[in-house]
Amino acid sequence: MAEKVTVGSYEITAVIDMVPPPRPTSAMFPDVPDSAWNDHQDVLEDGQLQLYYGVFVVRSDNHTVLVDTGMGPGPHPSRGNAVGNLYEELRPVMLPPNVDIHNTNVSPSDQVNYVVHTHLHADHVGWNLRYSGGMPAPNFRRARYIIPKDDYDYYTQPEILEQNPHVQQQIMPLRRLRLQQIVEGEYEVTDGISTMPAVGHTPGHQVVLVNSGGQKAMLVGDLLHCIAQVTEPSWCASVDYDKAASHANREMLLNKAESEDWIVCAGHFPPGKQIGKVVTEGGKRVWQSL
Ligand SMILES: [Zn+2]
Repeated sequence: MAEKVTVGSYEITAVIDMVPPPRPTSAMFPDVPDSAWNDHQDVLEDGQLQLYYGVFVVRSDNHTVLVDTGMGPGPHPSRGNAVGNLYEELRPVMLPPNVDIHNTNVSPSDQVNYVVHTHLHADHVGWNLRYSGGMPAPNFRRARYIIPKDDYDYYTQPEILEQNPHVQQQIMPLRRLRLQQIVEGEYEVTDGISTMPAVGHTPGHQVVLVNSGGQKAMLVGDLLHCIAQVTEPSWCASVDYDKAASHANREMLLNKAESEDWIVCAGHFPPGKQIGKVVTEGGKRVWQSL
């Protein structure tokens, strides 16, 4: 089930691409002792950490922006051979009004004007391109793909690229296809939608801000993997590139979200809980799903 929220002239919809196998908390958060999870059992599923691979569609009458593209069709041996289903899930969300859902002449993916990547991990870029006879073709052929420069520079270094074949397959061909836009610092994507660096999870990790009609939303990428991190911002995922920076930026954005009443969108949270607000209850900062 998609969930959505209106932010000024935009509608933001959460869409799940894939559900990877659950993992022990110690695998995802090796620095957090088991006992520290006692207060957070409610965010675990059978005592394990279950991530979801979600993306967001940010849509107005004039623009459609896709924030991240999930893990890709798969099957993915590194994730228990799970398969991604983004294309089908996007269909009802992006079909233009008055078009029958079974009309296969209209491609929902052609509605996308911009794909914005929060960072270049495999579970965020997987549906960029498809291959036929070894040749790449864009899944969102009318979009510009917006990529943070510091991630691009880092992941395309030969020795790093070798360990990240998804960057070679899903990012590097975009340049030759003339669909790539490398951005630095704060960047205005289109009316009311901008990116802001929030590094730490990766060298160039960025968040996406939506500011329209006096309402504000932030799409936080992988600053948050688990709802418990709202209460415990010092908890860093094992895959964070720079844990001190990840913690500092998480703290900064949670403070901003709460004090300025931002809507927050977190793609790795469970379905129905991916859009929420950060509030303080009983002296503790917590997640309140919308
Ligand atoms: Zn991720």
